[in-house]
Amino acid sequence: MLSLYIHIPFCYRKCAYCDFVSYSVNDDIKHNYVVKLLQEIESKSGEYSGVVQSVYLGGGTPTAISLPDIMAILHCVKANYNIASDAEITIEGNPFTFDKAMLVELKKGGFNRFSVGVQSFHDNELVAIDRLHSKNQAVEACNVLKEIFPNYSLDLMIGIPLQTMESLARSIEIAVSLAPSHISCYMLKLEEGTKLTAMVEKGLVEVADEDTVADMYDMVVAKLGKCGFNQYETSNFARNNLVSRHNIGYWNLQNYLGFGIASHSLYGNRRFFNGSDLGDYIENGYSEMLEEDLTEKDKMQEYIMLRLRMNQGIVLADFQNMFNWDFLALYNEPLDKMKAYLDIDNTHVAIKTKYFSVASGVMVEFM
Ligand code: SF4
Repeated sequence: MLSLYIHIPFCYRKCAYCDFVSYSVNDDIKHNYVVKLLQEIESKSGEYSGVVQSVYLGGGTPTAISLPDIMAILHCVKANYNIASDAEITIEGNPFTFDKAMLVELKKGGFNRFSVGVQSFHDNELVAIDRLHSKNQAVEACNVLKEIFPNYSLDLMIGIPLQTMESLARSIEIAVSLAPSHISCYMLKLEEGTKLTAMVEKGLVEVADEDTVADMYDMVVAKLGKCGFNQYETSNFARNNLVSRHNIGYWNLQNYLGFGIASHSLYGNRRFFNGSDLGDYIENGYSEMLEEDLTEKDKMQEYIMLRLRMNQGIVLADFQNMFNWDFLALYNEPLDKMKAYLDIDNTHVAIKTKYFSVASGVMVEFM
């Protein structure tokens, strides 16, 4: 099984909290990037095999490039890889960067899932994090999406400046009313080098403290649960089991290939990534760097970390099949130490969902 990730590193403006690799550039540069991207996608196809179960065009803002360029990328992927007939094919976008006509074409071309970044349904909060869209634009975008892409995912954030328990609850209610199949709710992280981090450090902006964020998170989980969204990972919720198959592939440590600048790949025990220099990529094509050859122990630890973020946790039989070890015997000490936080039976080990907000403290005991 294989997943493909294609990075489109363009946005119209940088959001205040964002440390993703993305640039605001003109249309010629975007097109020149896509030309090199197509070469990379084609040239790697001879090296790697596997039935592709998911394709993900992420960014950045993939809908910030032209529709013909988006379709050329999807066509190139389909022409060069063995795509499963039921593969999940997702594209990300932000409100105001797409319209109904574009969505119709994307669907016709083969995309079957859309992921929209909204973050909040309050104008004051959106302004505080430098999002380029308003609440009304987000609502309009979702109304169009639900018509064309019933399987669409909506991103919200917890802990952004000016957010209160009430405003977050209202954002959740509006999100649910717009009928996405999937909601991701990420806690704000103050990443080094971002505008927001600098402003918080200078005391110009305040963000909620850890306890408040934990309370907000618990409220979100409870509210989404009541609305029929099943939490299947610490930050991800799905209706009717429409989970992100692409992300589940990552969390199961399945092979994935990344294309474009700053994209990462895992194939067998080999993890590698592309450089982040846009000019260099456009001039010389991709430069692949070996990050590491993972040992069995590295893979095992990463698998544990990723799976403990999921409701299902570690399936003991899967762990045995993957690593040839009995998880309960191998980790009996941390299991005993952390037993108050864990659901343990003879098939699974999972963090109790009420402790998801402190999951990292539990996971560290298994490292
Ligand atoms: S739209 Fe997304 S990728 Fe682009 S700057 Fe904002 S958060 Fe970063």
